[in-house]
Amino acid sequence: MNTLIAEIKLLEALNFAADRHRFQRRKDEHATPYINHPIDVAHRLAAAGESDSVVLMGAILHDTIEDTETEHNELVAKFGQEVADVVLELTDDKNLSAMERKTRQFLLASTRSEKARKIKLADKTCNVYDILNHPPHLWSEPRKVEYIEWSKKVVDELRGTQPVLEHQFDELYRQAREQFRNYVFQH
Ligand code: NDP
Ligand code: ZN
Repeated sequence: MNTLIAEIKLLEALNFAADRHRFQRRKDEHATPYINHPIDVAHRLAAAGESDSVVLMGAILHDTIEDTETEHNELVAKFGQEVADVVLELTDDKNLSAMERKTRQFLLASTRSEKARKIKLADKTCNVYDILNHPPHLWSEPRKVEYIEWSKKVVDELRGTQPVLEHQFDELYRQAREQFRNYVFQH
């Protein structure tokens, strides 16, 4: 894709996601606008050297079907089949229990397309970074440790997908073990 067209499409995706997430906030004490998270995921991928526009648009849109009134068909019409399919791959089935959703994320991680795996890896890296730096303000320490441990299990299923991000995740995991040194980590 021509660079200017790719940039315009990325900005269209950003505009769309910002509109869809406009009433949502992150769980940190400042209730950061939700859109900062998809921007963060896309930025982390770009800074790690990813320039594929499907990956970057998918990152910007990755929580739209799961967390907003957005349909797969709508993304197909606006951003094309490939972007829409990647977002769908990253969407948990909200009809399942939280435990079933988490188990499926783990079991299916390695079967996802390469583009979806890259975004998932960046998503987990951003969330663990946030847990260490701007955590959900209502979460206890055990809950934070539980989330980090579960993320580690998912990331271990994604090994070989994006070495820069895998290294960043491992460094964050090391920091987590220091920050929560009273807890027993599994890995
Ligand atoms: P999660 O546990 O999945 O919440 C984590 C998600 O919150 C992240 O994946 C991220 O989602 C989003 N998020 C928003 N703000 C932040 C932030 N500042 N830092 C990191 N992540 C952030 O979902 P729920 O809160 O819905 O809880 C459901 C699950 O939690 C169940 O598995 C339940 O069993 C468990 N639970 C555990 C408890 C405990 O004390 N151990 C208590 C209650 C529930 P995204 O990537 O989509 O932005
Ligand atoms: Zn996310």
